[in-house]
Order: sequence, then structure tokens, then C-alpha cells
Amino acid sequence: MARPKVVIIGGGFAGLNVAKGLSSANADILMIDRTNHHLFQPLLYQVATATLSPRDIAAPLRSILREQKNLKIEMAEVASIDKTQRAIHLSDGTTRDYDHLVVAVGSRHSYFGHPEWEAIAPGLKTLQDAVRIREKILSSLEIAERVADKEDQRQYLTYVIVGGGPTGVEMAGAIAEIAKKSIKDEFRTFDISETRIILVEGAPRVLMPYPESLSAIAKDNLEEMGVEVRLNSIVTDIQPDGIQIGDEWIATKTIVWAAGNMASPMLKTLGVPVDRIGRVEVAPDLTIPGYPEIMVIGDCSMSIDLKTKAPLPGIGPVAMQQGHYAARALTLRLSNKKVPPFEYFDKGTMATIGHGRAVASVFGLQFSGLIAWILWSIIHVAYLVGFRNKVVVMLEWAWSMISTKRSVRLIAHSKN
Ligand SMILES: Cc1cc2nc3c(=O)[nH]c(=O)nc-3n(C[C@H](O)[C@H](O)[C@H](O)COP(=O)(O)OP(=O)(O)OC[C@H]3O[C@@H](n4cnc5c(N)ncnc54)[C@H](O)[C@@H]3O)c2cc1C
Repeated sequence: MARPKVVIIGGGFAGLNVAKGLSSANADILMIDRTNHHLFQPLLYQVATATLSPRDIAAPLRSILREQKNLKIEMAEVASIDKTQRAIHLSDGTTRDYDHLVVAVGSRHSYFGHPEWEAIAPGLKTLQDAVRIREKILSSLEIAERVADKEDQRQYLTYVIVGGGPTGVEMAGAIAEIAKKSIKDEFRTFDISETRIILVEGAPRVLMPYPESLSAIAKDNLEEMGVEVRLNSIVTDIQPDGIQIGDEWIATKTIVWAAGNMASPMLKTLGVPVDRIGRVEVAPDLTIPGYPEIMVIGDCSMSIDLKTKAPLPGIGPVAMQQGHYAARALTLRLSNKKVPPFEYFDKGTMATIGHGRAVASVFGLQFSGLIAWILWSIIHVAYLVGFRNKVVVMLEWAWSMISTKRSVRLIAHSKN
């Protein structure tokens, strides 16, 4: 009898864990990803802010899964899925068929109905995004050094981060470390006191999903580091030379978008209900109702927490646990056994603000400062893929703690 064909779309946290969990499955597995690597997104901001280089937080999927003989990898973009024909159409015009399908394509930024803002205010999702933002930040300092007019110079020394969630807080803290510390004594026509970092958040506090006390600590820490935190502030326009926040126009050449997420538009081709941000609404076993052979997991799925009855957030632990679960569920399904519903085990949340500063809420306990930062570091290094990456990242962190310098400050593309 022919072995069942399992296709996994996406090699992120969710997809990779499905593949690993099926290492001994009696099936032909195909993983399709439009990139050739697995990316550790939680450390992307450190690439964007010159602490780490792209290779430190990514690893080739082929190398991670090389021992898995039942699995083939294709680097390709999925354009659409025809669930009635069990066919996956790739953007090169070819088709792949499946008996079982796991969709784990993640999400992109959402610009709240203003897609034209993306070209000016890049978001942070891929390695290309991170390198682009890094070059923008470093180039702005170089241009500021050679601009004669003080008013013009100020534009290049002003950095606005939109969105006060974990990514926005991490970006603001890290840019403050560069602009207020790392570059000290390196430039001649301006001083670090002239750099401005502004974090804009529409809600009444940063880190909204965290306990209020931790949000307050994060805000205080950012302000101590020189970040201006604007709460209850809505962005109404973004132009190449500035940003409109309420009644105020802020002249700036560097805006980073960390405000919203949107699931992949490709999911619409499934023709099933999606939520406000485009995530596929799945049953408790993460399948599409009526199509038990299709599971949708990770950031692109809208699943309900069995305990709290609230939608699960788009974070790493949810994606990883759903990946493990999908592998177990598929193994049970392949041997015609009953599949229990997915249950999320919430271990807590954490965010870093700068070297030696973080906030964490773990198993109901709250931590901040150095203890939280050590916790954050241990967990992030533990989940990084690849021994080399773990060692290099720890060494880079140790170096930047001691020296306050950034390791990756070369600008590879001179066009600015
Ligand atoms: C900057 C940033 C910081 C974050 N920080 C944290 C944090 O501190 N803690 C935390 O828990 N979570 C954090 N997250 C969220 C966490 O990274 C995500 O929840 C997690 O990556 C989701 O995993 P996933 O597998 O669902 O999607 P992803 O990891 O996004 O993987 C999706 C994969 O699908 C591929 N793909 C997409 N579309 C297609 C297509 N059409 N065809 C083929 N392949 C495709 C992509 O190339 C990618 O490899 C952060 C996210 C970002 C962006």
C-alpha cells in the first residue's frame, strides 16, 4: 500500500516541530517553505540593532532536518490551496498533492488599512527586514554626521517606533542603547544628547497583555534609557520625512513599525472562515471543520484556549506546542485512532528592554531587572536552533554587556 503523503507548509516554530515529531512516521513528508531557513524571530530585533548577525539566529532547514529520511524539503512559495482537490499550487505554476496537510505559514505586519506606510516604516518579520532596518539606523547616523543644517540633522537623529508591544519595547530599548551609548565619542558634528527615540503606543500602557505593574516598570526603564514613551497616541500619517501623531508632526527619517499583525493572505484561498486579522478559525483539534485532513497551526490559526475560552496569542510557545500536538495528532490519525483536543500549557511571558533589563511573568510570579533578563536570556538561548548559534549569541551578549559596543555595525549597501 502507498505511504500517505503529508505536506507541511512553513518551517517556522510550528512547522519545524511537526516535522521533527514525525521523524519515525511511516509517511512521505514534504516540507515547503519560501525561505531555506528556520528563523528565530524573537531575536530579530538584535539583528536589526546590530548586536547579532543574521546567521546567528537562523539555520538552514536542510541542515536541521538532514537525518530525517522520510522528509523532503522544497524551497517554494505556496500561492493557493485547493482543499476539495487536495492540491497545493506553487507560485512557479506547479502543483503538489497531499493526503494530510499542515498549514503553518505564520503572519506579516498589518498597517491598519495603510499599506503605503510599509515602504517608509518597515516592520520586523524576516532576516531581510532586520538587515534593512539595521542599515537604515546606521545610515541615518552617517548622514547626520555630514548634514550641515541642524534642523535637517535632527530628522536623521530622531527614531520613532510605532507599537508598544514586546517587539516595539525591545526595539526602542536597543535603539536607545545604540544612539545614547554605543556611538559615544564616535561622531564629531553631533552629540548623543541630540538623538531622540520615541515609542508610540495607542493603548494606555506599553506591553498591554502583561500585568500592569510590569508595564509600568518597562515604561520607567525605557524612560531611564532616554526613550520618550507616548501612550494613548494614534498615528494618522506617515511620510518619508516624518510622522503625524495626533496633533503633533515629528520630523524623522527612521520609523520602525511594530504595531500589528496580519495572517498570510494566501490562507483566504482555503475558503474557510477567518478572524479579523485573517487567521483561520480552527476546531479544538486544530483542523478545519469538515476537512479533518487539514490542520492550521501557529500564528496563522485562530484557536481557542480550552481553559480560558479566549483566543490563543500569536507567540512562540503556542506555535511550538501546536507543532508538537499536530505531529502527535497526525500519528494517531494515521493509525485510525481518536485525537484529543489541543490543550495549551501557559508558562508565562517575558520581554527584554535592554541589556540587564527585562520583565517576566512566569507561572504567576513576576520578575524584573537583572533576574528577569537572565531568565529571558536562558530561555531564548535554549530555544535557539544550533549549537554554534547558542555559543555565538552568548558570547555576543557578554561582549556587548562589557563593552556597550555593537558587533555588527558595517553598512553593506552604501545607497542611502
Ligand atoms: C520581531 C518578533 C519578535 C518576537 N518575539 C517573541 C518573543 O519574544 N516571544 C514569543 O513567544 N514570540 C515572539 N514572537 C512571535 C513568534 O516568533 C511567532 O509566534 C512564531 O514565530 C510563530 O511561528 P509560526 O511557525 O506560526 O510562524 P513563523 O515562525 O512566522 O513561520 C512561518 C514560516 O512559513 C513560511 N511561509 C510563509 N508563507 C509561505 C508561503 N506562502 N509559502 C511557503 N512558505 C511560507 C515562512 O517563510 C516561515 O518560515 C516574535 C515575533 C517577531 C516577528
